Amino acid sequence: MKLYLLPSDKILDFVAKLSEDGLVFYPVSEDDKTHLVKFDKDKEFEPDFEKVRTAENIKHFLFPSRAVVAKFPKDTAVKAKKQYLFGIKNCDLRGVDIYDRVFLNAEPVDPLYKKKRENTILISADCPEPEDCCFCNLVGLNPYAEAVCDLNFTKIDSGLLFEAFTKKGEKIIDDNSALFKEATKEDEKERSRIRKNAVKKLNKINEKPFKEDLAERLEKVDEKFKHEIREDCVECFACLHACPTCYCFLLSDYKKGKEFERVRTWDVCYYAAYARVGGGANPRSSLDERFWNRFLCKFDYFKAYEGIYSCSGCGRCYRGCSAKIDIREILWKL
Ligand code: SF4
Ligand code: SF4
Ligand code: SF4
Repeated sequence: MKLYLLPSDKILDFVAKLSEDGLVFYPVSEDDKTHLVKFDKDKEFEPDFEKVRTAENIKHFLFPSRAVVAKFPKDTAVKAKKQYLFGIKNCDLRGVDIYDRVFLNAEPVDPLYKKKRENTILISADCPEPEDCCFCNLVGLNPYAEAVCDLNFTKIDSGLLFEAFTKKGEKIIDDNSALFKEATKEDEKERSRIRKNAVKKLNKINEKPFKEDLAERLEKVDEKFKHEIREDCVECFACLHACPTCYCFLLSDYKKGKEFERVRTWDVCYYAAYARVGGGANPRSSLDERFWNRFLCKFDYFKAYEGIYSCSGCGRCYRGCSAKIDIREILWKL
């Protein structure tokens, strides 16, 4: 695959050019965390492309926590502004891959997601320094993108080394060809070195792989195990709200004057009423069962249907957890 170098002194010009076509969001560091912020040509531009994924997951950009999906009696066409997500990480691309499979590649297609996805350009960045919460390598990913994104880049000494993965990505490079240089063999070697180091670090952080027969093991656990591993859980739901791969939602209708709105909000399987059905029966009324459902959903059922875990290894659930429950530790015990 051909590589293109965007020299350091051209990064701002490139981002400014993209912002003429749509909103551009890029990562900035604050208090040892990164956050995606909107590019504003009149404000300082101090991106941090080297730190790991942002504290917040990127699903808000494609599958927001609350969205009006229909109006009655006069429906309005679904609208979505063009947006560039610049410098996101490979674990967040796993989230997009999962949403594509759930909302786009299976019937019925979700029109709101489809519109947002068509208008979103994914430009990912390598992670040279994985952190102790990262475990993308345990779920079949590398700390750099190899699919799903439109463009990916590696930060090297002389600038950003880009690779295109889609026609949209190639067009962005073509349209801005005056800013890019052809990459040299040395640039390519530098990228290989950075990637090798990152993989080495991740393998050191996560020395033990998950067992090959993880799904079977998940199905065989006893009630005692289910209870013990969730004993410290205080049901704050941070793990699921922060998760870039959870896709459950609820639809509710609201009256607004003479009109009605249908609103979609996130739902999560740790809510006590999540599995409750008409008549009040609840097959997962105990927290032990609800807690375990997340493991079955992500590491057993989704893998059986789609061939991949519906977990990206981003570690946000651990970082955000009041009880510091680390799902890796639980899965390693099996
Ligand atoms: S989990 Fe992997 S891809 Fe995600 S931030 Fe960490 S190293 Fe990067
Ligand atoms: S379960 Fe945890 S590590 Fe896996 S995708 Fe969700 S937040 Fe990230
Ligand atoms: S973040 Fe931790 S304490 Fe909160 S619901 Fe999840 S596992 Fe329980």
